[in-house]
Amino acid sequence: MFAQRLAQVSASATLKVAAEAERLRRAGVNVVDFSAGEPDFPTPEHVKAAGKAAIDANFTRYTAAPGIPELREAICARYKRDYGIEITAAEVLMTNGGKQALFNAALALFDPGDEVITHAPYWPTIPEQVKLVGAKPVIVPTRSEDGFAVHADAMIKAITPKTKAIIINSPGNPTGALVDEATTAAITDAAAKHGIWTIVDLCYEQLIYEPVPHNLPKVLFDGNRARTVICGSASKSYAMTGWRCGWTIAPKELTGAFNVIQGQSTSNICSITQKATLAAITGSQDAVTVMLDEYRRRRDNIHAWLTANPGIKCVKPSGAFYLFPDISGLLSPDGVKTSTDFAAALLEQEHVVVTPGEAFDATGYLRISYATSMEQLREGATRILRFAESLQPAKASASR
Ligand code: PMP
Repeated sequence: MFAQRLAQVSASATLKVAAEAERLRRAGVNVVDFSAGEPDFPTPEHVKAAGKAAIDANFTRYTAAPGIPELREAICARYKRDYGIEITAAEVLMTNGGKQALFNAALALFDPGDEVITHAPYWPTIPEQVKLVGAKPVIVPTRSEDGFAVHADAMIKAITPKTKAIIINSPGNPTGALVDEATTAAITDAAAKHGIWTIVDLCYEQLIYEPVPHNLPKVLFDGNRARTVICGSASKSYAMTGWRCGWTIAPKELTGAFNVIQGQSTSNICSITQKATLAAITGSQDAVTVMLDEYRRRRDNIHAWLTANPGIKCVKPSGAFYLFPDISGLLSPDGVKTSTDFAAALLEQEHVVVTPGEAFDATGYLRISYATSMEQLREGATRILRFAESLQPAKASASR
């Protein structure tokens, strides 16, 4: 009944858990929700004010499809300031979130039969968009034992004559791991040699906890500028998920292709959002630091609380706001067998919502978003630990 292109594409694996959580909440149950993929902070005041001012000034009409020039210029200035790269407004296009930035790239670059390499555990939208345009995601796994590090040689080994692009996400959702500069340089050099595109999803670029080198834009520009797409977003940095603002930085010709796609589909992003994002990017960045400091405190606490149970092993994330613990030590063949079972039982018994690792191609793990209050984190951790302890006697007897 529906178009063929939908046959391969999955809906979000998190929907089932979310629906059950909503059912419990409606029934008056005190649910602790660790599934949020977005900041719990409000949009900063000066950003909201710019949005309100745009409405009052009747800045409520169509704009140019790629976005208003002053915003695109502001993106150029920001990337020059933060990364030392020189770009012009003709290489920038404003999108409805980082999601549309990535989707424009998929639509403009991938044909049926093309292969697109990315690393797992991944944000599911990345491979699903590849499938939606008829191409084939090629997944290179990473391991929690070495901090979910992406290894250049594994990525490069996956290149075939059909490879069209390599997509890197750093900091990554769901692991919070960074792809380091040397790895990115090696991947970029190989991509340039093979005439392959490098696409980097930098949605969480401002949520990195330690001042480690992470100038991926410069590395990509140095190695493969003619075939690089940078996807950015205001969603997480400025707590603006609902405003829908992202962008691409790509060669002029490709940006022109994005403009055609967007001009014939969604046109410009919301005019009010553009004015608000201009204020976010050009105004004080203090709110970003305040939020990052709070996420860091939460990360340190929830990490310490959960790893008190030896069955929960967890890398401390370098960025984003997710913990991705390995809970395989709590699973058993005759009890709670998978992380999906674990999440379902945790919800039923303790009313805590987490996203099972299967959603990210990583069975045996859970994604715990700490974009929620410290009180909720404390309460949720207490419940998770209680649940974990309730499993351990069964596990101990099973192994005897
Ligand atoms: N990339 C990653 C890795 C994400 O986790 C998300 C949001 N969950 C996005 C991109 C896109 O977010 P948005 O469309 O709100 O910018």
